[in-house]
Amino acid sequence: HTAILARSLSIPSIVALHRARDLIRDGELIIVDGNHGIVIVNPDKDTLAEYRLRQEEWELEQQKLKRLKLTKAVTLDGIEVELHANIEVPSDVAKAKAVGASGIGLYRTEFLFMNRREMPDEEEQFAAYRTVAETMKGMPVTIRTLDLGADKQMNPDAARSCTNPALGLRAIRLCLSEPQIFHTQLRAILRASHYGKIKILIPMLSSLFELRQTVTQLERAKESLRAESIPFDEAIKLGGMIEIPAAAINAEAFARELDFLSIGTNDLIQYSLAIDRTDDAVAHLYKPSHPAVLKLIEMTIKAGNKLGKPVSVCGEMAGDLDFTRLLLSMGLRQFSMHPSHVLTIKRQVLQTELQATIPLTRKIMNAYDIDKIEPLLEKLNQ
Ligand code: PEP
Ligand code: MG
Repeated sequence: HTAILARSLSIPSIVALHRARDLIRDGELIIVDGNHGIVIVNPDKDTLAEYRLRQEEWELEQQKLKRLKLTKAVTLDGIEVELHANIEVPSDVAKAKAVGASGIGLYRTEFLFMNRREMPDEEEQFAAYRTVAETMKGMPVTIRTLDLGADKQMNPDAARSCTNPALGLRAIRLCLSEPQIFHTQLRAILRASHYGKIKILIPMLSSLFELRQTVTQLERAKESLRAESIPFDEAIKLGGMIEIPAAAINAEAFARELDFLSIGTNDLIQYSLAIDRTDDAVAHLYKPSHPAVLKLIEMTIKAGNKLGKPVSVCGEMAGDLDFTRLLLSMGLRQFSMHPSHVLTIKRQVLQTELQATIPLTRKIMNAYDIDKIEPLLEKLNQ
């Protein structure tokens, strides 16, 4: 999440450089190449000139991409795709609009709760959600309920220590164990739904039991607003994040009881490969192209499509050019990503003939070995 936030603030960054502070002195000139994970300390004249050129080329490319802002994302064979943006704070909406995103596919509300001692009250939350809903002017805004815990603690000093925080009381588990906090957030989201097209997204569902408890809490929040004659969207849609392998395997059951699904590939990879996404010692094993991960994603997309429930991907894979064609070919029609990726992904959609991707996609999905999958993926993207 340091990475997600740094990108949100447009700060080029590289993490896990361990001894960097020992090697770099204050005041030294450094080049931070976030795209390749390279830091160059005291670059010589030629290196500096080379990077200035790269920077100019990058800026030129961004200018060209801007021309696609109002172009619809449609494949060469006429399949329409929704490209939504992920946001962390209300002010990110400006970036989403600047790239022509057709909605907010993931609003991570936990950033409103982090780095402070007091919880934001209902009014503060309502104001933030309403601002986003109004600024998007009728375009969909998918607000994810609190995903605190694990790597996203409210106040790090007060964080409960436990052996496996990623497997502990986080996200919907935490909300269901703290009904008052959840109730306040649900009321704030529902109230804001009167001012735009809001959808509610539940993180980290692992069982129908949790889903049904969530629905009960949502009904309770709706009932309390009705009793006070406070308006909200009675037809508000409820969706679930599919980011735990158990949920992906059981996606049909979730699709039956929910209005939409959203695949969180960041956690789905972490949990299916047992790789801590925050531990750089195992980062080289964190592989989105692992056959097991690809199969879980495909199962989820198929389950949603079978039951006529929209499925989106809102994890990092949605903004990763290497996977755009594969995901399209699996049947995905909604992608949600950091605003900085929207136009690059749109260009890829515009240059894709979906029908032509099917044979290679079959080969990829029938392969059991990453070493076979990666060259096939490269071929698919040529
Ligand atoms: C994910 O897990 O892919 C996701 C989108 O949620 P987060 O990165 O906030 O855990
Ligand atoms: Mg997640």
